[in-house]
Amino acid sequence: MRRVLLVEPGYKNKYPPLGLMKLSSYHKLMGDEVHFVKGCVASFRETTWDRIYVSTLFTFFWSATMQTVKYYLRAVRSPENLIVGGVMATLLQSDIEKATGVRVLPGLLDRPGILDSDSTVVVDGLIPDYQILESIEYEYPVRDAYIAYATRGCPNRCGFCAVNKIEPTFRHYCPLPRQVKGIEDVYGPKQDLILLDNNVLASRSFKRIIGDIRHLGFERGATLNGRMRRVDFNQGVDARKLTDKKMALLATTAIRPLRIAFDHISMRDLYVSRVRLAAKHEVLNLSNYVLYNYTDTPSDFYQRLRINCELNEELGTQIYSFPMKYIPLTARNRSHVGPNWNRKLIRGVQCILLATRGMVSPRLEFFEAAFGRTPEEFETIALMPNEYIIHRRLHENNGAAEWVDIFHSLTKPQRRVLYDIHADGRVTEAHYKRTTSPRFRRLLEHYIEADRIEAARRT
Ligand code: SF4
Repeated sequence: MRRVLLVEPGYKNKYPPLGLMKLSSYHKLMGDEVHFVKGCVASFRETTWDRIYVSTLFTFFWSATMQTVKYYLRAVRSPENLIVGGVMATLLQSDIEKATGVRVLPGLLDRPGILDSDSTVVVDGLIPDYQILESIEYEYPVRDAYIAYATRGCPNRCGFCAVNKIEPTFRHYCPLPRQVKGIEDVYGPKQDLILLDNNVLASRSFKRIIGDIRHLGFERGATLNGRMRRVDFNQGVDARKLTDKKMALLATTAIRPLRIAFDHISMRDLYVSRVRLAAKHEVLNLSNYVLYNYTDTPSDFYQRLRINCELNEELGTQIYSFPMKYIPLTARNRSHVGPNWNRKLIRGVQCILLATRGMVSPRLEFFEAAFGRTPEEFETIALMPNEYIIHRRLHENNGAAEWVDIFHSLTKPQRRVLYDIHADGRVTEAHYKRTTSPRFRRLLEHYIEADRIEAARRT
């Protein structure tokens, strides 16, 4: 019997670590003793493990992940016994190997013998072990759900997406009944069905998949214990492939929300037509990842958010927008700035979302209050000192009003200077001292004063 430790780095995440849950099933099947921990916990490295697995997620979690790997290195006899897998491990394999000397397993565990040469078990095909989640204090927001795949991979190759590197082969059908029943038999029925498919609409077996979903108790209007059940293709569906027929099929399930991507304003007509299609089939609860900081502009981003609110007013839909900042596939932090954005505009979006508790209101009236009534107003808000954006009510009649006034009176060259300053980072005393125009100086002074208020608030 081997002693095995499964580690998920300490960052916050919504979904339980499916890969580790399957590894737990694998090692329990092998008769091994399995423990699970989230983050760096001293008691778990005071003993020696036969094997430690560390899961990885986005590459921008590089620091937290490397810190975790290094933390547990002394709890194995040799670095070879510490195995790293998952998304970041696939994208940055050699970087991790160079930095730590551990064993990195890229891609999926979808063949036998990857972990133990004499084993015939395919880890990826195992029923995930939900029990390990009970052993930690961290509560994943998604817990009472079957987490499964009806397909794997994606036939497309969008430039900003890592799917074809992680799951290079598109599998049209992965039997859901086996996965769902397998979980139910051991852990009892779950409320919701979360499907991690990357592009289910590209599947030749789409009709069969929908049939499976319905037969598993997730037909439209289905309830469990008096509560509505929910099917969520959490990676979204591809608007280009959403035909009337496929929409009609989706509408026979308990899908909520229906997630459709709206990555660029050039997709406007297609996107709007697909939302109309959903409304026609009475699928009214929609959700929309709005990619920004890629090749888009701030105006393009604003318009996409606004279109969702306008569609809600017109069609009676509830489209919730989730701005998603683009970060290059292999970036080790989140500092990337797209060609049409600057640091302040990006921070401005984050401050607006802080003020609205992370929500983009589906109602036009509240959206306009937060993001402005026009793309120009949005840009003005996003350029304001952060403190003025986050605590808008508090400052709107004094500091913020004066700042807006001066901002509107800036000459074109002065605006360019302001953008250059923001491209560099924060407004500092040095910028202020270098400026000769009294009005421009006063504008810069607002940033310095607002930073002081923000700093005092934090202490
Ligand atoms: S369609 Fe979606 S999953 Fe497929 S490559 Fe593009 S972004 Fe990735």
